[in-house]
Amino acid sequence: MRFSDIIGQYEARQHLLQSVKNGRIPHAQLFFGPAGNGKFALALAFVQYLNCQRPLPDDSCGSCPSCLKISKLAHPDVHFFFPTTTTKKVKKDPESKLYADDWREYIKECNGYPDINEWYNYLGVENKQGTLFVRDVTEINRLLGFKPFEGNFSAIIIWMPEKLHPTAANKLLKNLEEPPESTIFLLIAENPDQVLGTVRSRCYQFKIPKIAQSDLANKLAHSYHLSDDEAMQLAILADGDYLAARQLAKQPDDRLQQMEQFRMWMRLCFDHKYAEINDFAATTSGLGRERIKSLLEYGLRVFRFVMLIQYGQPALVNTVPEEQEFVGRFARAVSNIPVDSIAKMFEESIQHVERNANTSLLISSLSIKIAGFIGRRR
Ligand SMILES: [Zn+2]
Repeated sequence: MRFSDIIGQYEARQHLLQSVKNGRIPHAQLFFGPAGNGKFALALAFVQYLNCQRPLPDDSCGSCPSCLKISKLAHPDVHFFFPTTTTKKVKKDPESKLYADDWREYIKECNGYPDINEWYNYLGVENKQGTLFVRDVTEINRLLGFKPFEGNFSAIIIWMPEKLHPTAANKLLKNLEEPPESTIFLLIAENPDQVLGTVRSRCYQFKIPKIAQSDLANKLAHSYHLSDDEAMQLAILADGDYLAARQLAKQPDDRLQQMEQFRMWMRLCFDHKYAEINDFAATTSGLGRERIKSLLEYGLRVFRFVMLIQYGQPALVNTVPEEQEFVGRFARAVSNIPVDSIAKMFEESIQHVERNANTSLLISSLSIKIAGFIGRRR
């Protein structure tokens, strides 16, 4: 990964380059910022730059042995730690090193833009949460006993330190505070508030913003052969999140399928068909947590569109004609319902799904609440 492979984030790149030029590289850094903004890719590009044998002024060369090894995640001085759990392959005592091959494959597949749920899906464990275990930290502490084999720096990259088991975190503190010479820690977090304060306070905190819309649009236009207008529309919908943009760009048909599913669901709620609502909840929850989350996200999107129409901004409902027509009709059907409260319920439900709530129950109870609003109207 070179800096030039990253989508936008010019300021963040300059900041990292500057720290090298000044010779002031914090030995433990917490990179944080919203999903899909490229913070992991930046960490990777940074480590590659630090160890490059023929660095250019603003980027690694991309072709020396060190760059090649880092781009394959196979450099002996660059180590990755990430949440894991038991799977068919690892039935007990999971830890990062047992999943090194899967991780390498996954990072290649996602082009250095990983997502925690996608990673769980990749491991085939979408209903379990991963952890960074004490075993992982034991391994980190063992690795710190060695000097760098080949590079200038040894790097320990910890992805999602939110998932550090508290005992593991405590075991890490001393080394975070005083790592051996030529070692840097890069922690990559989405929700820094969920990282233990004792860990956070030992790191230099580096906030990385959303990707600028124009940078994201350029990337999408290029990668998916979209017109400038189409690419900009997707970039706006994705709100600086490359993972979301990628999903939208790859699967426009999927979005129409979701529209059908959402339309069917809302019809059951409108008609107060409670038995069928329960069936719908059970079938949908059988599709897995990710699909439910995206259905809820789709619902949220529709209610936000409806709000735009209600605020007299129908021109902002900028989407494909089929969806535009559906949203228009749906907005008329819910004209007397507090749509903002329903949107809020969708937002909360998405959070509950992320926190492992019982999805079947969640869909049923959300449906009943929606039906209640509509019932009151009649
Ligand atoms: Zn190089």
